[in-house]
Amino acid sequence: MRFQRNLFLRLATPKACTLTLAHFRHSRHFSSLFVEHGKKFSARKNTNFTTNGLNYYKMANMQKDPAYDIVVFNGAVLTVNESFEVLENGLVCIADGRLERIEAATPNRPRPQARQTIDARGGIIMPGLVNTHTHAAMSLFRGLADDMALMTWLNDYIFKAEARWLNPENVYTATLLSCAEMLLSGTTTFCDGYFFEDAVAEAVQESGMRAILGQGIVDFPAPGVPDPKENVAEALRFIQRWEGKSHLVGCGLFCHSPYTCSEETLRKARNVADETNTLFQIHVAETQSEVAQIEEKHALSPVQYLDRIGILNSRTLVVHAIWVDDADIACMAERGVGVSVTTESEMKLASGVAPVPAFLKEAIAVGLGTDGCASNNNLDMFQEMDFVAKLHKAIRLDPTVLDAGQVLTLATRGGAEAIGLADRIGSLEVGKKADLIIIDTNKPHLRPLYDPASQLVYAAGGSDVRDVIIDGSAVVRERQLLTMKIEAVMEEVARLAGQIVS
Ligand SMILES: [Zn+2]
Repeated sequence: MRFQRNLFLRLATPKACTLTLAHFRHSRHFSSLFVEHGKKFSARKNTNFTTNGLNYYKMANMQKDPAYDIVVFNGAVLTVNESFEVLENGLVCIADGRLERIEAATPNRPRPQARQTIDARGGIIMPGLVNTHTHAAMSLFRGLADDMALMTWLNDYIFKAEARWLNPENVYTATLLSCAEMLLSGTTTFCDGYFFEDAVAEAVQESGMRAILGQGIVDFPAPGVPDPKENVAEALRFIQRWEGKSHLVGCGLFCHSPYTCSEETLRKARNVADETNTLFQIHVAETQSEVAQIEEKHALSPVQYLDRIGILNSRTLVVHAIWVDDADIACMAERGVGVSVTTESEMKLASGVAPVPAFLKEAIAVGLGTDGCASNNNLDMFQEMDFVAKLHKAIRLDPTVLDAGQVLTLATRGGAEAIGLADRIGSLEVGKKADLIIIDTNKPHLRPLYDPASQLVYAAGGSDVRDVIIDGSAVVRERQLLTMKIEAVMEEVARLAGQIVS
């Protein structure tokens, strides 16, 4: 029999499980053998073997070959699991792209063997950050037009710059730039909506990041989609080209807003999302003027209007949701939508402040997002955490609102829930994908270290991220990107910027 690192067996009865384990007790064919009985066999369940002694059994360390691909050790492990467990000095073992073992280090006990070991050097090991809303290629327009009202900014600058400068090559280059920025600041997954999304997918794949990508839909001629009648069909074609093609790229679609997409377009897009079981993303209730416009046209708030036409369900990501009332929030909770809050961008465009504590009270899945670089103007999720925590305290005159642990949860597990990936990412739990980051705390601004969550939200920044692992592969080591030559990307972006301002 060929050597296997792990073997999972489903057997008819508990007795068969016991006999099988006895038979293979001294086998050298597996490092671990898992058996369960019963008809159902889910990958998630069979990793929970230790919590159900009756149904699951484990025999580990049965042979000498390294059991793991990577072992990360010597760090505080912030799991961000349901009970927000923190292991003061823990280790994380990774095999086949998944988290296989997470535990406190035991003195005098040898470390598990692995092909690669990473010493966190007393730093913090935590889940990779999830950026729930970006237009990654907009990094091409970073700093091009600041300090103006949203509609002036959009109509007079951004839509014009996009019409003039977006093509597959430029979108690809700018997305690579954004992926590099996100990786070097600890983001492992992002949710994107833009144009030429095939070029975005190519860049994402190259960078080694995980992403949910949606082709942009608006009811006017858009970059790459000159005929608006083709907008939903083009989004569907993108899904058909990419769904299942890469284990890191997931698909969705992105309707710009209820004021740039007609009811017919929104309904058609909803059907595509339902038929393909992909994420429907949309900017909603971003400004007071949008609310006034929708109310005038439909006699409903943007949320109520979208609900009336069947857009809202558990596969909908509502971005912004700033100008929403209690009835809107109750509706969002009932439909099970996810929400992306993009605090820094909303502050910069003076759009308003989304009622995050009210969302959480209604158990709505909330994630944080940076939005595009033209309105933020960076992709640093550490800044998002810091801003969202402090802004809500300031406007409510209440320092207890959104504590560090809650905010850290929004940036990881909450984001994963909001974009429909909670079963795979967002926390360090056995069985989930191995997406994690290591924070270097050997720095003056991160000493002393009493509480990792507090340190991460209020003191750390993206540049404190030292290592990044995605899907079990190291993509950043000691702050060096392993997946791309970033100097060449920056040079190309500088060349494009020279053309854009000339
Ligand atoms: Zn946006």
